[in-house]
Amino acid sequence: MSQNNRDDRWRLKPRVRRTTWAVGLLTVATVLVTVLAGVSFVRRDSLVWGHDDGSYTLQLDRGSLVFFDYARNNFARSPLRWTSIDAGSGPRAGDRGLGFLYKAWSAADPIFFVGIPLWIAIVPLALADLLCICTWRRLRHRAAHGLCARCGYDVRASPGACPECGLHPCHE
Ligand SMILES: [Zn+2]
Repeated sequence: MSQNNRDDRWRLKPRVRRTTWAVGLLTVATVLVTVLAGVSFVRRDSLVWGHDDGSYTLQLDRGSLVFFDYARNNFARSPLRWTSIDAGSGPRAGDRGLGFLYKAWSAADPIFFVGIPLWIAIVPLALADLLCICTWRRLRHRAAHGLCARCGYDVRASPGACPECGLHPCHE
């Protein structure tokens, strides 16, 4: 571990500011994906667009994001559109547990789909957010109480360098 005392990583104010931004962005992202997942249990929103033999669909269904490829002539080359139906209505793809879905294409049943659950994004986002909130609180505490940015030692009586870890605080 480098003991470079002029290392900008240990300047408190920019660190607090960066961490505040990270907390804000991660919270917004976590809430957004969670709301999308929640709404998908009430209604199914889809983006549908046609290809030469049918249509592609990107659908939010029961907490999963599902991609479909249907072979249906009446949908071929249809323009991009947004549809929304009741979660309980219409045919739906089966579930492989935990929100994963998959069905291979076959000539007898010409539909392919693959789905990933949104919790796969929500869980790491929420954990990263929690970690950033803890860091943010610690940095704020150190900034407010004159503690060393790196090790948390009280450096109010030693303006030159931290007696514990040797960090020369950059005065901001
Ligand atoms: Zn220190």
